[in-house]
Amino acid sequence: MGGSDETRVLQAVRTDLFLGGEWGASESGHTVAVEDPSTGETIAEVADAIPAEGLEALRIAAEHQGKWARSAPRDRGEILRRAFELMVERVDDLALLMTLEMGKPLAESRGEVAYAAEFLRWFSEESVRIDGRFGLSPSGDSHLMVLRQPVGPCLFITPWNFPLAMGTRKIGPAVAAGCTMIVKPAKQTPLSMLALAQIFEEAGLPKGVLSVLTTSSAGALTGPMIKDARLRKVSFTGSTEVGRALVKDAADQLLRTSMELGGNAPFLVFEDADLDKAVDGAMLAKMRNMGEACTAANRFHVHASVAEEFSSRLAARMGALKVGRGTEDGTQVGPLIDEAGRLKVEELVADAIDRGAKPVTGGSRDDGAGYFYPPTVLAGVEPGSRILAEEVFGPVAPISTFETDDEAIAAANDTEFGLVSYAFTESWTRGLKVIEALEAGMIGLNRGLVSNPAAPFGGIKQSGFGREGGPEGIYEYLDVKYVSTPR
Ligand code: NAP
Repeated sequence: MGGSDETRVLQAVRTDLFLGGEWGASESGHTVAVEDPSTGETIAEVADAIPAEGLEALRIAAEHQGKWARSAPRDRGEILRRAFELMVERVDDLALLMTLEMGKPLAESRGEVAYAAEFLRWFSEESVRIDGRFGLSPSGDSHLMVLRQPVGPCLFITPWNFPLAMGTRKIGPAVAAGCTMIVKPAKQTPLSMLALAQIFEEAGLPKGVLSVLTTSSAGALTGPMIKDARLRKVSFTGSTEVGRALVKDAADQLLRTSMELGGNAPFLVFEDADLDKAVDGAMLAKMRNMGEACTAANRFHVHASVAEEFSSRLAARMGALKVGRGTEDGTQVGPLIDEAGRLKVEELVADAIDRGAKPVTGGSRDDGAGYFYPPTVLAGVEPGSRILAEEVFGPVAPISTFETDDEAIAAANDTEFGLVSYAFTESWTRGLKVIEALEAGMIGLNRGLVSNPAAPFGGIKQSGFGREGGPEGIYEYLDVKYVSTPR
């Protein structure tokens, strides 16, 4: 794909507000610039919604909720299926758009489009399987029925690192369940979500079911909606800090909330690990999305007897990756999202080196356009280094060593986060012991990738609550109603 394709996909995407199914400029008269992180240049301007437009979107969502809830599950499933097919058909254009606004290499963007589309296919199949229960009370004097009904109007706030998938994980089950919704994408990557709104429009989603609002002031737009009794649910994917504030705000209305928050994934390599598998797994767990993933391996705890071999093999693989603009052929590592993200990575690397860590590859940035940072492996990272406690969100693998299984498990669990943990061992007995002991919502056992639309994605501890995907995913959008009636 060349420059003319870039212009074409940028021109094809609508940049207005998508308010209940109608496109229109914001009353603010302002726009928000969208930047290509590989050049720092502005590639588009999207509407800058004001709080009144958020409340208007909520009014529309509340007005259409009743009719949408009564729609046929099969019809909702068919809309999701058509949207899935359109995404698959347009994978190249959607991927290019994503790469332009987010930076990841085209191959990874294609992977995300396919992953994001799969949530629509999965929930198209779930919409017709919403179950209930009918039974007799133990005393035999009454019947009891359990119904599941849509929660009602939802607000979705999504991050920039997976601009489509973090949206479809929420929109898919909400459409399947019969909820109306308002989506606020991250201001760095609104274009992919706007393109998705166009796809839903073409797929026949009725007007009023979906709004997509872009804004420069996330809190100002979403705050009044969260305080409004017409809203019934907030689902958020983003940092723990913002998630915590949203839960506090949501408490006033006792809103249902789902929180997909930050991570600090440990990657454990035991002495009996198959190092080929462990290095392959590490490459996936660390380098997917340039390390800008909540599931990214944040720290490597490796048995002392294999640490040197593991570090040098990982450094050789990471050091050989081609860094560049995501649209260029052969690029394997794109830029970070912005200068703030890059400065944070630099700060954490400098702190680890100050405390005694040694860079095996990478370790300092090149100057030039774009927010690039080279793949970096740090060996001998000392306890107390900030990089072990904070989400690095970049292509840096800090390695420290352990001697015993108990030491490894204690180090892995020594964090307030609990999203995902990875463990590599060829012993099934050790594997079972480790998966039971690890404090995480998800575990990759001898595998560096856990994300799957058919599986319940989510965390424990300060990584949040709620699950996205799998049969569990739709329950986030359904209320339980129990009915008692005489026999
Ligand atoms: P972020 O700063 O928390 O932003 C996420 C979203 O929240 C954006 O749409 C942002 O809007 C919005 N936001 C920011 N402040 C807000 C406020 N006061 N009120 C309402 N909305 C607000 O996170 P990020 O830097 O974009 O994303 C990275 C984080 O997401 C990492 O911590 C990562 O681990 C986490 N994440 C978690 C998962 C998971 O499933 N657990 C998946 C992906 C990412 P603006 O863009 O306008 O600021």
